[in-house]
Amino acid sequence: MDYITRNIPKSKKIALVAHDHMKTLLTSWVSKRTEQLKQHELFATGTTGSLLTKKTGLPIECLLSGPMGGDQQLGSKIAEGKLDLLIFFWDPMNAVPHDTDVKALLRLAAVWNIPIATNIATADFIMDSVHIDQDYATRIPDYQGYLLERTQ
Ligand code: PGA
Repeated sequence: MDYITRNIPKSKKIALVAHDHMKTLLTSWVSKRTEQLKQHELFATGTTGSLLTKKTGLPIECLLSGPMGGDQQLGSKIAEGKLDLLIFFWDPMNAVPHDTDVKALLRLAAVWNIPIATNIATADFIMDSVHIDQDYATRIPDYQGYLLERTQ
């Protein structure tokens, strides 16, 4: 696979997701980061986004609820280059009915080299990184090259 560079702008498209037992944790983390998160464009799965908007007043584009297709909508945005960062507090202690969707989302984030925070510590490291408030040149798969190779 060849790679190309994609510029992630200073103002980033950030997705926020938390499984049910992790929603309180994400809400309190987002509440502490409200001023910083305001500088970015926010997306979330349905329940997470509705709760976060209610508790923090942040403008968030709410997709479908995760188990109803929201995780897949986020995955699709990642594949189309429409998300820059994923904060996903998935639940390591409880099974969820849409485990396949969770895996698919994490897989696409890995394919497209999207930074993922799956816990508070990583979310803090990412948000305190020098890259968060600056443009960042990231490496993504060269899709056109991939296609060309497969269709010759
Ligand atoms: P929810 O979905 O925000 O609608 O609860 C989250 C998820 O389980 O992926």
